Amino acid sequence: MRALVFRGPSDLVVADRPDPVPDAGEVLLRIVATGICGSDLHGYTGENGRRHPGQVMGHETVARTADTGRLVTVNPVMGCGDCPACAAGTEQLCARRRVIGVDPSVSSAFAELMVAPAANVVPLPDDLPEEYGALVEPLAVGHHAALRGQVGAGDRVLVVGGGPIGQAAALAARRAGATAIAVSEPSASRRALVDRLGFAAVEPGALADLDPVTVVLDAVGSTASLRDGLAASTLGARIVLVGMNAPQVSLSAYEISTQERSIVGSFCYTSREFADTAAWVASRPPGLESLVDDQVPFDEAPRAFARLASGELDASKVLVRCQP
Ligand SMILES: [Zn+2]
Ligand SMILES: [Zn+2]
Repeated sequence: MRALVFRGPSDLVVADRPDPVPDAGEVLLRIVATGICGSDLHGYTGENGRRHPGQVMGHETVARTADTGRLVTVNPVMGCGDCPACAAGTEQLCARRRVIGVDPSVSSAFAELMVAPAANVVPLPDDLPEEYGALVEPLAVGHHAALRGQVGAGDRVLVVGGGPIGQAAALAARRAGATAIAVSEPSASRRALVDRLGFAAVEPGALADLDPVTVVLDAVGSTASLRDGLAASTLGARIVLVGMNAPQVSLSAYEISTQERSIVGSFCYTSREFADTAAWVASRPPGLESLVDDQVPFDEAPRAFARLASGELDASKVLVRCQP
């Protein structure tokens, strides 16, 4: 099969790899398309150190089963299956979790074929627009973030960052019943998309004009984004850190202690939340049609990575089509 192999910082090539062979309990999948995630881009440039030379990346995927051609998506979080976190269905909290597209030893989705545990393969309606299947993973990240922030009716929410995870978080906040949802984003093209989705798009410099919010979903994850979120929120607000832009941040301690804000982390989703998000996507909620900017053939994927990483391509979500 052909696969996209990460050889080192800014070095991605299309190469032949042996076809994966399913073990007991695994399913062989023909990948239809896989989304390029911000974490793949940071891995590609070498910024986050969470990708390793020689590996195949790819965790936002839609596929067809090799035997029956059924349309499916794949939950990339694989728990050990044998600890209290896994027993509770919170595989994202398993200390021995492995993530498809991150762990180099695991079959991953920038390839023509992959194998995945049957428990991680989530069926979709066969007539769903295929590209929607690749959106389930990032949308599940947003759903979990909104749940971690306990977003509910009456909450005013600020999402910091209007990229794919910010868009997903805003859509999830709306599903959860938040009354006012603003998204701060420096890029004009992303603000236009946020606006099309029906959210208030704000330039970061204009946040002072916003009514203080009760929940912040920080889809950037930097000192600056946390500072913006703290400044824009009420005393007692919940701040959810879901973006992973910087490994270290500095915080204004008194805005947390004396103003009783809570800061909670958010990573991936539970298996139940992933399945719930797949069911929501299967219902074709309005807005999804705006989320995929571009789809590129496999051979053009290295160039798409290079253009996205350099900022030359200011797209939101780009999918790689994985079949010839
Ligand atoms: Zn991702
Ligand atoms: Zn476990």
